[in-house]
Amino acid sequence: MTAAIEAEGLTKHFTLKQGRTRGVGINPGSWFRARGSRTVHAVDDVGFRAESGRTLAIIGESGCGKSTVAKLLLGLTPATSGSIRVTGERRIQMVAQNPWSALNRRKTIGHALHQPLRIHRRDLDAAGREARVHELLGLTGLSPDFLRRYPADVSGGELQRVTIARALAAEPRVLVLDEPTASLDVSVKAGLVNLLCDLRDDLGLTYLLITHELDVARLLADQVLVMYLGHVVESGTAEAVLGDPAHPYTRSLLDAVPVPDPRRRKELRPLPGEVPSAVDPPSGCRFRTRCPHALPQCATTRPTARETGTGHLTSCHLTVWSPS
Ligand code: SF4
Repeated sequence: MTAAIEAEGLTKHFTLKQGRTRGVGINPGSWFRARGSRTVHAVDDVGFRAESGRTLAIIGESGCGKSTVAKLLLGLTPATSGSIRVTGERRIQMVAQNPWSALNRRKTIGHALHQPLRIHRRDLDAAGREARVHELLGLTGLSPDFLRRYPADVSGGELQRVTIARALAAEPRVLVLDEPTASLDVSVKAGLVNLLCDLRDDLGLTYLLITHELDVARLLADQVLVMYLGHVVESGTAEAVLGDPAHPYTRSLLDAVPVPDPRRRKELRPLPGEVPSAVDPPSGCRFRTRCPHALPQCATTRPTARETGTGHLTSCHLTVWSPS
């Protein structure tokens, strides 16, 4: 299996002026608690490999660094050190969480689909572009009458399909899906996940999925990377990481997910406490301030990744632990 995306030693530190917290994924309250320090440790020494034609999901709470990894891959911000790259001649596009922000409300959906073709498919004449637009609508399960509509006239799920069609107009090989279903109802979400699965398999696309929705990761991902406060704490196949987590943080994330079965509701255990400040992260293991299993060495030594199964890596000092 060839790699579509490779990251090695990827690090991103922001230097902020005091009081500026918007847009960098940190909690303003924790920033003010850390008054005096100005470096945000958004991503620290992250490495991974996303296989071609598959989905790599990066999961974790808000502020864990997953969106910063996506921005680094898209070239929207430079890395402090290390590297992340799309291998070969692979074009990359993004599908954002909020489809309304991705489209001009005063222009028709037809305009939104023609525009990228004028940029990326200069080989097509007007008739060729029109044919391609209809093809994109068909690929995303939308009818031709959408071309005359405006973003305000369609539902959130339909609009997300439009943004996917728009991303596909550039004929990418890699799609960054940044919380693609977070703004959708459960019933609409299932349809969109099915569409994304079909497009990936039919077009041979590679997805980097950024999500805090573990149900979506379960359905879409082949590989999972779990991030906490800028560090990767666990990685492996989706089956191994989400089915048999080896890191206390991953277990906590899974325990915090509501389950529809009323007999299991009492077992729900919300994650304790808040994510600490990325301006002044805890020493040693960054999860130690919330970890029920913390040991003395967790405060002094950052755990290194060790293999708990084939390709299943965890960064934790505990070699045996009980999740209960
Ligand atoms: Fe908990 Fe220590 Fe493992 Fe970190 S290294 S997850 S604090 S037991």
